[in-house]
Amino acid sequence: MFERYTEEARRVIFFARFAASMDGAYSIGPFHLLAGIYKEKSELFNSLLLAKANLDFEKLFRGGKPRVPTSVEIPLSKGSEKALRLAVQSADRARSRSVAVEDLLCGVFQADARSRKQLKRAGLTEAALKRAAAAKPSEPVPTESAAEHLAHVLRVHSSQCGVGYDLHRLGEGRKLILGGVEVPFEKGPVGHSNGDVLSHAVCDALLGAAGLGDIGTHFPDTDPKWKGASSLLFLEHTRKLLDGRSLRIAHIDAVVITEKPRLGPHFPAMREALAKALGISPERVNLKAKTNEGVDAIGRGEAIASHAIATLEA
Ligand code: MG
Repeated sequence: MFERYTEEARRVIFFARFAASMDGAYSIGPFHLLAGIYKEKSELFNSLLLAKANLDFEKLFRGGKPRVPTSVEIPLSKGSEKALRLAVQSADRARSRSVAVEDLLCGVFQADARSRKQLKRAGLTEAALKRAAAAKPSEPVPTESAAEHLAHVLRVHSSQCGVGYDLHRLGEGRKLILGGVEVPFEKGPVGHSNGDVLSHAVCDALLGAAGLGDIGTHFPDTDPKWKGASSLLFLEHTRKLLDGRSLRIAHIDAVVITEKPRLGPHFPAMREALAKALGISPERVNLKAKTNEGVDAIGRGEAIASHAIATLEA
């Protein structure tokens, strides 16, 4: 997409993305493209008398903390996509192989009514803009690797989800471990492993999202190696599998269903433990608790269950 862009035009997109994050926007709009043009080539704004346009871009570049974290991918809005398409047409009209900042300004002017109104009010005409685009100095088109880098900056990551479920019977004299944390209770899960339904459901959700089968395939209960094993080991192993496929954990949401005990007070420790095993921040792990309203095996306190959903980004 950016192969034909000059270095300056590429920097405009970079600054536009920055402006969007400072602006707290989840897409790069035409206004942000204008801000990027202003930042990269203010002399173009001045030569076209746009200093009078009263577009307060400076506030976006004044520094401070971005309102949308820079780690979040910010896609182009539909309006900006249209502006970029029109920028290519502007370059074609001028018989230029490279798409320059002037072409981007032309694209925004034609694609976005609001920007056009503001720019016109400042005295910009389409004719003046086309003249500027036609008269722009030709510039060598940068290398493919730089284009790839920019595509990476703007890449909208693909995401994939997986669901996990686990249930264990509860028996007397067993430790109740959930999310790797021991919760004081008179009963605990009966199972080959430590019966940590929460970790097992999360593990299955992650494996499912990665298309890697299920927990039984990777940690068979016939293997003595896993007898009584901490379920956090399963998660650590799963994390390595994901790392090997360059899959990043975007978010985990899970619910534990049990009649007793109350789990809320233990959630911070569980989120910490799960996040640590998975190498992510606890903010990426959400936990919820439900009772079964006294019905069925869970309601009678004979079993505990958990559902989880995991989202991975490629
Ligand atoms: Mg299990």
